[in-house]
Amino acid sequence: MNSEITAGKQKELLNWAAERWLAVGSTSEDMAVHTVSTRAAQDLGRRTGFIPLAAPLCMLAFLIASPQLHTHWLPIAALYLLMAVVAAIRIGLAQKLAGATTEAMLPLARRYQLTVDLASFIWGSLTGLILLFRGIDQVTELVLVASVAITAGAFACLTLEVSLWRRFLLAMWLPLIILSAAAAMQGSEYGWLLVTLELVFVTFAAVQGQHVVRDYVAGLLSRIDLEHAVSTIASQRDELQMHQTRLDELLAQTHNLSYYDQLTGIGSRSHFYERLETNIAASRISGNQFAVLYLDVDGFKDINDTLGHEAGDDLLKTIAYRVRALLRTTDFAARLGSDELALLINGVTHNRDALAIVQRYMKEIQVPTNLCGKLICPRVSIGIALYPVDGDNTFSLLKAAESAMNSVKSNPKLQYARYSPEMTVAAQQRLTIEQEMRLALSTGQFRLHYQPQVEAVSGEICGVEALVRWQHPERGLIPPNDFITVAENTGLIDELGHWVLVTACTQAAQWLDSGENIFSVAVNISPLQLLERSFIDTVRGVLKSTGLSPHLLELEITESTVQTHVQARETLAQLHELGVRIAIDDFGTGYSSLASLKDLPIDRVKTDRVFVTDMLSSDRDMALLGNIIEMAHVLGCSVVAEGVEELAHKEKLQSLNCDCLQGYYFSAPLEAADIPEFSRAAAERAELCTNSEFAVDLA
Ligand code: C2E
Ligand code: CA
Ligand code: CA
Repeated sequence: MNSEITAGKQKELLNWAAERWLAVGSTSEDMAVHTVSTRAAQDLGRRTGFIPLAAPLCMLAFLIASPQLHTHWLPIAALYLLMAVVAAIRIGLAQKLAGATTEAMLPLARRYQLTVDLASFIWGSLTGLILLFRGIDQVTELVLVASVAITAGAFACLTLEVSLWRRFLLAMWLPLIILSAAAAMQGSEYGWLLVTLELVFVTFAAVQGQHVVRDYVAGLLSRIDLEHAVSTIASQRDELQMHQTRLDELLAQTHNLSYYDQLTGIGSRSHFYERLETNIAASRISGNQFAVLYLDVDGFKDINDTLGHEAGDDLLKTIAYRVRALLRTTDFAARLGSDELALLINGVTHNRDALAIVQRYMKEIQVPTNLCGKLICPRVSIGIALYPVDGDNTFSLLKAAESAMNSVKSNPKLQYARYSPEMTVAAQQRLTIEQEMRLALSTGQFRLHYQPQVEAVSGEICGVEALVRWQHPERGLIPPNDFITVAENTGLIDELGHWVLVTACTQAAQWLDSGENIFSVAVNISPLQLLERSFIDTVRGVLKSTGLSPHLLELEITESTVQTHVQARETLAQLHELGVRIAIDDFGTGYSSLASLKDLPIDRVKTDRVFVTDMLSSDRDMALLGNIIEMAHVLGCSVVAEGVEELAHKEKLQSLNCDCLQGYYFSAPLEAADIPEFSRAAAERAELCTNSEFAVDLA
């Protein structure tokens, strides 16, 4: 049934099917042929039903109504009985045929054909004999032949196959016509009229039967075609349904992917934008206010670098989980980027509401958690923006929250902040600075100043620290604190750091060449530079090109860098091997103890300025400084104290055995040209001191 029946094939099928489907169908290899012939045979069986009884019943009625025939009752009764039996057999076969399979069809169809042949022959013979016996009058003869012709004509609807129909006509009408002709020859009054009538019937039936069969087969073919189309449609519908289901699945998946952050399970960036937009639209009508919080995980990069990305992921998941736990049904949380989350908090009208909520989130987020076996207190910086005061559309509101968060980041004392318009100004300034810095680098607007470091005991110069400045064409000399962070955030620090290193080393080599006292030059290194794998090659290259001896170069690195980055430790070891000296800058501010630095190749410790500043007023700071100096000595490091601004500082530090001093008391950072002068003056002062001490000793 599923085999396709094309238009061309249909014509071909129609031709043979109308002719001989019963014989061909079961022997053909063609599926379409099988289909047509099987269906036709089944139809034949179904349509036959009890119609074969029509002829015996019709004859019975005629025989009962014609008592004149009773003289010939024996042959008539015998033939009649045979006719009834054959009709019964045919009905039985028809029923089997109605449910026959293709395989069983052919033998059944053959037997069915035989019964048709036999029944027709008996019927035709019986009618012919009756005419021959001449036991009835001419009108009855006419009625008999007419009724036979009409009943037989009705059978046309049963034959369904041309060959079957032809055989039926032949078997039925041949004996009848022969016997009728015999009767006519015996002198029957209307004998020849009857024969003529019979011939007209046969011709008419033959032609009509062919039409009936053709119409039937055409109908069958289009029915099969229709069924095929219906089943195709059904299977296509199933397939379509399958595709639709898959499509729905994919859509749901895509929705899930684009709407939810796969790592944390909270909303995605696009989802947040959508929610924010809806919220703003609703708030415009209702007049409700709400807050947007912008969260950035503190030290996320450090966690990733030291504990690995999995730990970073875990940290994000933990924070997201905690945030979700506090979220009310009207609120919404999403992950905007790597370590940035955003919260939409409804029903916030006042600054104090927002602050209370932020504090609640802070408290929950900061609960210590275990990351790779280490207990960590997750920390976030939060920027707050309120709708509609801080922004009345998606972009401005989110931007305001982000600016507030950035201002928190740039102020170590803050953990959260509400947006204020100055923050945008600051952000815009940062952008301007970045663009200007790129220009400054290419047009040589940066300068290096050098701040002398003196030996605590002799006062002689022992080194200089190179400090970068920006000679801005309009704004004058800009201090490093105003642009180093921007350089770090924009990646410009690599280029700038490289320039500083080359310039400082070139300068140191020049001083050496011009016969100055031998002193080292210290260069500040940003953590980002140290994390570059190529940094060691850069240093090696610069030393080679400038010809400076490695031990005259000191690199200043902040303690947090070496504490948190494995890569930084490796680079330090390699630099040390090269002969370059390493100093830990701003020591004492990063909570690490000296003992924790003992495995690092450190040559110097630079104590942070705050210790010296507070030393005179705080015994605690004084004691701390003393401890740091002592411990450093034990570990084989020398100590430089920064921020020496007055004589008292100098004297206290001398008493604490500090090795070197640096600060405005001796000199502010100077231009390179002024260093030889300072160096000479310091040397002279030192000599003077030694001489006077010598004089005192002699006295
Ligand atoms: P730092 O490394 O701690 O440098 C010392 C800073 O303290 C310098 O500020 C210096 O001028 C200042 N200073 C020195 N003596 C005194 C004193 O007695 N009292 C006070 N109040 N301040 C004193 P500067 O030059 O403004 O540099 C600030 C920071 O910028 C530096 O802090 C350093 O972290 C960074 N920096 C400077 N140059 C570079 C550089 O070339 N590369 C990198 N990555 N950072 C640099
Ligand atoms: Ca420094
Ligand atoms: Ca410092």
